Amino acid sequence: MTDAPAGHAAGVPAGVPWSTGVVRGADGVVRVAGADVHTLAAEHGTPAYVLDEADLRARARAFREAFEAACAQVGTGADVYYAGKALLTRAVARWVHEEGLRVDTASGGELAVALAGGVPGADIGLHGNNKSDAELHAALDAGVGRIIVDSLVEVDRLADLVAARRAAGTPTDAAPVMVRLTTGVHAGGHEFIATAHEDQKFGLSLAAGPAGGDSPAVTALLRVLERPELRLLGLHSHIGSQILDPAGFAAAAEKVLALRAALAARTGVLVDEVDLGGGYGIAYLPGEVALDPDRAAKEVVHAVADACRALGTPLPRLSVEPGRAIVGPAGLTLYTVGTVKPVRLDDGRVRTYVSVDGGMSDNIRPALYGARYHAELVGRASDAAPVLARVVGKHCESGDVVVHEVQLPGDVRAGDLLAVAATGAYGRSMASSYNLLPRPPVVAVRAGASRVLVRRETVADLLALDVGDA
Ligand SMILES: *Cc1c(COP(=O)(O)O)cnc(C)c1O
Repeated sequence: MTDAPAGHAAGVPAGVPWSTGVVRGADGVVRVAGADVHTLAAEHGTPAYVLDEADLRARARAFREAFEAACAQVGTGADVYYAGKALLTRAVARWVHEEGLRVDTASGGELAVALAGGVPGADIGLHGNNKSDAELHAALDAGVGRIIVDSLVEVDRLADLVAARRAAGTPTDAAPVMVRLTTGVHAGGHEFIATAHEDQKFGLSLAAGPAGGDSPAVTALLRVLERPELRLLGLHSHIGSQILDPAGFAAAAEKVLALRAALAARTGVLVDEVDLGGGYGIAYLPGEVALDPDRAAKEVVHAVADACRALGTPLPRLSVEPGRAIVGPAGLTLYTVGTVKPVRLDDGRVRTYVSVDGGMSDNIRPALYGARYHAELVGRASDAAPVLARVVGKHCESGDVVVHEVQLPGDVRAGDLLAVAATGAYGRSMASSYNLLPRPPVVAVRAGASRVLVRRETVADLLALDVGDA
């Protein structure tokens, strides 16, 4: 991380898991957007999630500009929704909205935070395969721009709820809905696979029903059109995460557009919008190359334009929902090293277990998915020969691993500051207080100054939730 690698100037670095503001000074100490890690640790404690605000904003802008430009080329428009589940705080919601993005939410809690961040309801989407009545009411109260329905029963539930609100004297517009499809296309990494019938909980299948009858997707779409309490905006597809090759998006888009044309032929209704979901991949390890938003936008929009031309239908407005690609690389986790323990392996090698003051409670992804991360000592330079290290947490689980394998200086010792790169997405948002470790704060850094966005949880917070049985 010593030199700002090529690409940093463009705001979307390639092959580097750190945010653009992360630079190691001549003194060996790393700065994040101008704030040195010793100061950050002294002011905020460790562990702490540290967000590089300018980097996050630049990534949000890069996505919006890439999709707007690619869509403008073919004569349509684009909307970028930030997938809030990756990390949602009031400030993050405000930042991405200021950069021209809208916000996707997946629960009443996410919806409330997006609204509290100042995002207008009209710029918010609500997802979920099992939305509660309370969540649907909250979405209607807020006037959300779209509700992505995920099942046939939800179509009727939502329409009935609108009718019930009207009957109770609450003026309620027809609910704007998109229908979430399962296209059979799954992607992640460099490959995608396509199947007909999907064995998963999300969406409505495009595969024909028994004896060649209507697919669940068509059945739900016809039902939406039958219900005057609903307004059909468009079709939605989300094919996976950490996708590095846009071919999967193009394959899914073709299926969605074919359904759009078939629905128009059958009902005369050509829906205006197609959402191709999120999943844009990032670099977690040095040398990995993120999916470039410009390349992704060009290829996806090209595929959409080709498919529409072949189908003889006008282009829809397009939307996409990146989460990880906007916030992941903008964040790092700052830890303090504690116990360092060499462990001799059967093959004679020694693995140095480096314990930090957090672990699977602040980053569950390695334990949950075998996710790989990169770590460096950030508080000092070291000339010591590197050793094979494993960064582990302080939880009562042997699977409590933060970084499976990384070379660290052989003199790594208690008190060192260690940073794990690219933890901005799905770190804090998936955090738990396992072992009753209070969850770390989210700290933002801009132009050398830091401030708390979400404060550190305290033992008093934990005790306040536990009301006892008196
Ligand atoms: C998770 C999710 C996203 C965001 O995925 P990323 O991998 O963070 O880009 C977008 N849309 C939907 C429907 C999702 O479930």
